[in-house]
Amino acid sequence: MPLSHDYHIHSNYSDGRPLPFMIAAAEESGLEAIGFSDHCNVSEREAMIEAKHEYGFALDLTYERRWQAIRSLSERTDLEIYDAVEMDYDPAEEARIRDFLAEAAFDYAIGSVHAIDGHNVQVSANFAEKSDAECRELVDRYYETLVSLIDSELFAIAAHLDLPERTPELRGYATEEHYAMVADAFDRSSTLPEINAGRVLDDYGDFHPARPFFEHLRERGIPFVPGTDSHRPAELRDRLPVLAEEFDDHALEAIRLPDL
Ligand SMILES: [Zn+2]
Ligand SMILES: [Zn+2]
Repeated sequence: MPLSHDYHIHSNYSDGRPLPFMIAAAEESGLEAIGFSDHCNVSEREAMIEAKHEYGFALDLTYERRWQAIRSLSERTDLEIYDAVEMDYDPAEEARIRDFLAEAAFDYAIGSVHAIDGHNVQVSANFAEKSDAECRELVDRYYETLVSLIDSELFAIAAHLDLPERTPELRGYATEEHYAMVADAFDRSSTLPEINAGRVLDDYGDFHPARPFFEHLRERGIPFVPGTDSHRPAELRDRLPVLAEEFDDHALEAIRLPDL
């Protein structure tokens, strides 16, 4: 069955293509609802501020402008378009994140752990020189931080749960204990996990979460939200049918708003 919605799409308000191009791809793909979840951080840490400026992520400054754009674009399409965000999470910054989310009043928020100690876990070069023990420690901390994210109840959705797995240098350090710990956290939280297709057609070639992790969540009956994590129109068109098949294969119901 085709998916009717995709709640994890980027636009030029962070590192994706312009809103109208992404909307056109969503229409062509037969979607009924999409959510623009552009990257955003409200960190006070210098490394995070630098990264935000270097990559040109400014949704904390431009969310009102994007909201107006979504409103005007909504008048020209039958698609339901949600005004959302993918926030960088750090346990030390919960108060700042909470204040920002209250101010911006997005339709929903996705929370992500992208970096540990300022090291983006998707960048191989950050870990090439690290020892086995250091990588293990980092992956440990990644999963502890993910549990805090889920426990914080700040977000409707937790993104790409096993993000370090896409990075060869960090792959294989995650354990059944990590998966169980995260699954327990979802069990007691209203935050839902995503099935994320961001690397399913790339070198990594798997969904987040990968199968053993997915099984822990499914055993507990935790439902999933679909997300292609597309930054370009072609990614949306290509990933959506693969993601739909994954939901079908496991007879999963794709959770939609307002049930988030
Ligand atoms: Zn992300
Ligand atoms: Zn994303």
